[in-house]
Amino acid sequence: MTGETTSTADPVASAPGLVGTIAGIREAVAAHRRDGRTVALVPTMGALHDGHLALVRRAREIADVVVVSIFVNPLQFGAGEDLDRYPRTLESDLAALGRDGVELVFAPTAAEMYPAGEVETRVTAGHVGTLYEGASRPGHFDGVLTVVSKLFHIVQPDHALFGQKDAQQVFLVQRMVRDLDLPVRVEVVPTVREPDGLAMSSRNRYLDAEQRRIALALSESLAAAESAAADGLDEVLAEAAGAFGDHDGIELDYLVVVDPETFLPVVEGAAGPARVLVAARVGATRLIDNGLITLG
Ligand code: AMP
Repeated sequence: MTGETTSTADPVASAPGLVGTIAGIREAVAAHRRDGRTVALVPTMGALHDGHLALVRRAREIADVVVVSIFVNPLQFGAGEDLDRYPRTLESDLAALGRDGVELVFAPTAAEMYPAGEVETRVTAGHVGTLYEGASRPGHFDGVLTVVSKLFHIVQPDHALFGQKDAQQVFLVQRMVRDLDLPVRVEVVPTVREPDGLAMSSRNRYLDAEQRRIALALSESLAAAESAAADGLDEVLAEAAGAFGDHDGIELDYLVVVDPETFLPVVEGAAGPARVLVAARVGATRLIDNGLITLG
């Protein structure tokens, strides 16, 4: 080392403003708005990875100010789920968001968001909210839509960004925005994957090396579904399920092909675009993935 100061790899990042209160984030956003800036919101539960950062980068492209919320929302976790052990990595999250030039991070406590404990008033996700993820996690999507709705009212963003990784969530958020006439434009960002195909997820860090290998069955099942798409629904389901046959240590939760417009299961003989949804348990870790196919 020569002791010279150089500005090589890491451009000097300024830490985002960290705000923990509803009043504080309203005030900070209002100050930007007074200066005529547009605002994008990226709701997250933290433990950020490159999937989250893809949302942040897209937000940066479409709005002047990027607000990232980091809140592990108790309302969307069921009894016996991983609320308590969900990874919380605020310091490294802030560093990553600083490198991407995020202006504001809203990281409230549960007491700030739900001062009376659990809320009585909720947004309900309707029938689709009870299927697939909603069948395995009763009440999950009501909890998601309730907190997303609260975040929209608190931040009042022009844009909100969500990942295609959580396809059912995106469908339900978009429908809530339409049904309730919420003045926000929802933008969906494609799923970011590890080089071997595993969809990035905060929960991947629960996996040991063997489980990490086994977890590839999810993305492999989607690839198998895509290869069989021209042969119709029954072939798609058979081939996609086959990807789980070779693995011990993974338990398929659901594998379903849905109409992207209604999110209801397609029937044999259907043709055109369809989305394959898959969920599986690897040890104690539940993972989900999805992909678009064109049924022949
Ligand atoms: P989470 O922190 O898991 O609630 O995710 C926050 C947002 O990031 C959601 O809109 C997710 O769909 C999105 N997201 C999570 N993982 C990925 C990924 N691998 N690719 C793209 N978006 C993702």
